Amino acid sequence: MTSHLRQNLHNHTRFSDGRHTVEQLIEEARRRHLTALGVSDHFFTRKVYRRTDVAEWCRSALPAYLQMADEARRQAPRELKVWWGLEIDSCFDRIGTDLAGLPWPALNRLDYLLFEYVGEPGHGGMPFERLHELSQHCRIPVILAHPDPTQWEETLPIDRAFAIVRECGVALEVPGGRRNPRRWGPNDVARLAGVPLTIGCDTHESIADVGAIDGVVQFLVDHGLVGQVTDPDRLGPPRGGNE
Ligand SMILES: [Zn+2]
Repeated sequence: MTSHLRQNLHNHTRFSDGRHTVEQLIEEARRRHLTALGVSDHFFTRKVYRRTDVAEWCRSALPAYLQMADEARRQAPRELKVWWGLEIDSCFDRIGTDLAGLPWPALNRLDYLLFEYVGEPGHGGMPFERLHELSQHCRIPVILAHPDPTQWEETLPIDRAFAIVRECGVALEVPGGRRNPRRWGPNDVARLAGVPLTIGCDTHESIADVGAIDGVVQFLVDHGLVGQVTDPDRLGPPRGGNE
């Protein structure tokens, strides 16, 4: 199995609120010599889809997305690994359903899920402890998108939060691109020990974000974290932790 350091697993297309097509993302990824790309449009959330609700979105948009994924997998370019995921807003008020009510049989046909705002009360995200529940439903790898440990600390000791990440076997995204601040610094390296890591740029408007991973790669190299870089082929589904 190839390991992909030059990866970007967080990219939106016109399907949700991105500006570009999948073909444009793939072309840019190849131009910037990435070896792996993840398409991760938004699952239903009121912050993105204003004219529908979760039930209608799951009836119409989700099957179309899964079909796009199947077609793209059949036409995958040889030089670039492409995985298909979705980004789920963990503020369930904005989704209109809870974890158990998500359409898991359909979601589990994807390659991975990003969850945003986990443990971030400022964004209404689900509490960290609920990551344990994912193992009851989710059969595919989970990555926490643009994690903000300064918010985690508002509700539980930071070491406990990192312990839950390890127990549950979820990965943390190290953000590249211009949209999310680089929150990880040299002082975090000890905390990140043993935690699976991915790179994601949260591409929306700027095509240049697809390949904007060099700063992250340098950070990972400088701090001996390259061995922790994972991807949807390597990372298993979430575990239940202490159950
Ligand atoms: Zn995103």
